[in-house]
Amino acid sequence: MLKDLTKEELRQEALRLRAEYDKTRELGLKLDISRGKPSKEQLALSMDLLNVLDSSSDMISEDGFDTRNYGCLTGIAEGKRLMADLMDVRPDQVIVFDGSSLNIMYDTVQKCMAHGVMGHTPWQKLPEVKFLCPVPGYDRHFAVTEAFGVTMLNIPMKEDGPDMDLVEKYVSEDPAVKGIWCVPKYGNPAGTVYSDEVVRRFANLKPAAPDFRIFWDNAYNVHHLDFEKQRQILNILDEAEKAGNPDIVYVFGSFSKITFPGSSVSGLASSKANLEDIAGNMKYQTIGHNKIMQLMHARYFPDREAILAHMKKHAAIMKPKFDAVEEILSKELGGLGIADWSKPDGGYFISFNTMEGCAKTVVAMMKEAGVTMTGAGATYPYHKDPEDRNIRIAPSFATLEEVREAIRIFTVVVRLASVEKLLSE
Ligand code: PMP
Repeated sequence: MLKDLTKEELRQEALRLRAEYDKTRELGLKLDISRGKPSKEQLALSMDLLNVLDSSSDMISEDGFDTRNYGCLTGIAEGKRLMADLMDVRPDQVIVFDGSSLNIMYDTVQKCMAHGVMGHTPWQKLPEVKFLCPVPGYDRHFAVTEAFGVTMLNIPMKEDGPDMDLVEKYVSEDPAVKGIWCVPKYGNPAGTVYSDEVVRRFANLKPAAPDFRIFWDNAYNVHHLDFEKQRQILNILDEAEKAGNPDIVYVFGSFSKITFPGSSVSGLASSKANLEDIAGNMKYQTIGHNKIMQLMHARYFPDREAILAHMKKHAAIMKPKFDAVEEILSKELGGLGIADWSKPDGGYFISFNTMEGCAKTVVAMMKEAGVTMTGAGATYPYHKDPEDRNIRIAPSFATLEEVREAIRIFTVVVRLASVEKLLSE
């Protein structure tokens, strides 16, 4: 343990680490482990998708729509089946959208603000709207609610999901609490998978606000890192129906990190009543989404097995990078008592915690050494990590060698920042 060293030993260690850090700075590196983007190698896996259609293709959907033309607001039959396969729901529970689920989430919050939920008062007419934000969480979720002036309340994440005692308390007691952001499987950033009990407790919430909704962003449903250890979660729509709460949840998903981010197909799944409410507004917004992209994806992925077979190829590229991070972190930082980190079975991120008050320093020192990381605090609403501890590591985009180099430097920086912190105490 570092804290067991004497002041003199710490001073020697600081000198040694500082010299190592300075040597690294002189290398003029340019590495980036900040955003969860698929690598070029992963994008290449989907190039065949572009060969699914050509000028001789039959462009008519199974339900008879000419996909080249206007119309079909909620998606062609095979587009709904495709999204249902991805999200583990039924095709009749789906509206198909274009290439970004974040876009659907933004539009959904905007619709709640401007038009309200199923005839309830539009949120923008209320004195205050609050959202629960499990932390650490996905920065862009928090950015959406921040953009609409929603008050965001931190909910600590546990091993198996958000602190449900706190969620139940807020949701049942405060009618200003209108929503919660959830990433139920392989969450961003810790890779957390919600337990059956957590999913059931969500489905059984008794909100004080009749227009409270769970924003269930199942972005990583099929993004297993190890296919021997595939994790499953309970189906929230089924559980909500069983609990007599069928309208409590909006489920989101997309093919972004399966085929081409931003240029694929995404979807929203929910109860019949919610879908009608949402489509009722959508009809003013668009005449229909990109049905050609739906057709291409649906023919490329005829069933759930085809999606999983494709995800296995992603895992073969991603897993060695996650393994490298784990190997280097545990070798260089294990047992020192200065950090902990997540060991996800899927998704795109590793969540790393420094000693209290060190995360900002570490990210700034990494930048100086030529390694870009997600900003410290980004995993919290308003970019405010109350303990300044959490850092998100995104190993997907860089090459394996770059990941190794970046994490090696990271361990030097974390040790140096920790030693200097202990010396200052
Ligand atoms: N949800 C989560 C939890 C994510 O991590 C990401 C991408 N980083 C997205 C949504 C974005 O998805 P899309 O490309 O479909 O907008």
